[in-house]
Amino acid sequence: MAEAAAKVEDVRKQMSGADTQVAQALIEMQADKQLGKLRRGAFVRSTSLIRYAGAGPWALSQVGKIQTFFQQKFGRPLPIAVFGQGAIHNQWHLDHRNAMDVSVNPNGQEAAALMDFLRANGIPFSAFRTAIPNVATGPHIHIGLPSHRY
Ligand SMILES: [Zn+2]
Repeated sequence: MAEAAAKVEDVRKQMSGADTQVAQALIEMQADKQLGKLRRGAFVRSTSLIRYAGAGPWALSQVGKIQTFFQQKFGRPLPIAVFGQGAIHNQWHLDHRNAMDVSVNPNGQEAAALMDFLRANGIPFSAFRTAIPNVATGPHIHIGLPSHRY
């Protein structure tokens, strides 16, 4: 019984993980259509998103310092939902190779501190506040330049 229950829980987790990734990718595609390109260092804030264009070169390999910051500040690991290119991005021809999505609600205190840290370090990000009804949650912070369609 316990084993079966654990399996069900496992599958449930995987499914909600996939839903979350789909919701996040959908939101990113919509935002990109609305916004287009921002100049380096630019900062935009609207009701549905906050976007910072970054100040220097960014590579996903800088993830270590973000993880360290988050762990030290909040005593838990950075909740990375998608690191780099995921299956959903391949399917929709979205270039997400140099980006990651973290499941932090953009309206919360953790997000505020994280975004301050990213800006202070010149790291580009987009924080999405939108939720898609009936499709997982959606709100998240995308770290890296916006993904574009290829
Ligand atoms: Zn993303």
